[in-house]
Amino acid sequence: MTRMRLCNVLVIGSGAAGLRAAIAAHRAGTEVLVMGKRARLDAHTVLASGGINAALGTRDPEDSWQQHFGDTVREGYFLSDPRVVETTVREAPGAVEELAAWGGPFARTDDGRLDQRFFGAHRWRRTCYVGDYSGRAILRTLVAKVDELAIPILEGQYVSRLLVPEPGYCQSHEHIRHFQIPSELTRSIDRVPPIEPRRRSPRRSTQGSRWTPVSGSGSPASPGPASTSPPWSVPSAPATASRRSRRPTA
Ligand SMILES: Cc1cc2nc3c(=O)[nH]c(=O)nc-3n(C[C@H](O)[C@H](O)[C@H](O)COP(=O)(O)OP(=O)(O)OC[C@H]3O[C@@H](n4cnc5c(N)ncnc54)[C@H](O)[C@@H]3O)c2cc1C
Repeated sequence: MTRMRLCNVLVIGSGAAGLRAAIAAHRAGTEVLVMGKRARLDAHTVLASGGINAALGTRDPEDSWQQHFGDTVREGYFLSDPRVVETTVREAPGAVEELAAWGGPFARTDDGRLDQRFFGAHRWRRTCYVGDYSGRAILRTLVAKVDELAIPILEGQYVSRLLVPEPGYCQSHEHIRHFQIPSELTRSIDRVPPIEPRRRSPRRSTQGSRWTPVSGSGSPASPGPASTSPPWSVPSAPATASRRSRRPTA
C-alpha cells in the first residue's frame, strides 16, 4: 500500500541537529515533517556525555568566540571549514541559552548562571553540562519542544534512497524510499530516570594556560569589533602527552 504524506520541509534524522532544524523550519512558517530510523529519544546524540561548548565566560571571563574558534580549528588539525566553525562558535552561546530557556536542566553556579567546565581540547572552561547525561538531556529538551510545537516525527523509518528527478530536487514524501523497522528493534534505550542538575567545582585552574587571550575580543559572549583579518591566534600544538594530561576525565 502506498501512503502519501506531503510537507514543505522533510528532515531526515531526529537527533539534535534534525530536531533543531525542524524547529527552525517550523518557525519559518513551513510545514515540516521529521523522520528517523530509531525512536525519537534514541539518537546518537544521547551518547554525548561531556557537554556542549559555548564561550559564555561564566567561569573564565577571558573566553570569547574567537578563542573557541581557535581551539576548534586547531584540534581539528585545520581540516574544518573555518566559515562553518565561525558560525558555530559565534552562535553557540545563544543556542545553549535557548536550550536552557526551553527547560534544559544544565548545571548552574550558585548565582544561577550556566556552569561551565573543562572538556576536550578547550583551554577555558567552556562546556555546559548536565551531569554525565548532557546529550540525553539536550535531546529530551528538543523532543519536548518539538512536541510542544506539534511537529510530527515518524519513528522507525529507514530512508534508503532519495528518488529525486534532478539534483537538489525532492518534491514530496513520495520521492524518498523508506521502510518501517520492526517495533521491537526501535525500542527506546531511554530508560534512565529524570536527570537532576548538579554542581561541580572546577577541577583545575587556568593559571599557566598556554593560550594567549586575544586583545580587543570584547566580552565573552560578544564577537567584538569587526575586522578584516582573523582576530584569533592559534598556538602551536603542545606535546601530546602534556596536553592530554591537562584534560579532566569525563
Ligand atoms: C560516545 C560519544 C560521546 C560524545 N560526546 C560528546 C560531547 O560530550 N559533546 C559534544 O558536543 N559532542 C559529543 N559527541 C558527538 C555528538 O554526540 C554528535 O556530534 C551529535 O550528537 C550529532 O548529532 P546529530 O543530530 O547530527 O546526529 P545523531 O544524533 O546521530 O542523529 C542522526 C539521526 O539520523 C537518523 N538516521 C540516520 N540514518 C538514517 C536513515 N537512513 N533513515 C532514517 N533516519 C536515519 C538517526 O536515527 C538519528 O535520529 C559524542 C559522540 C559520541 C559517540
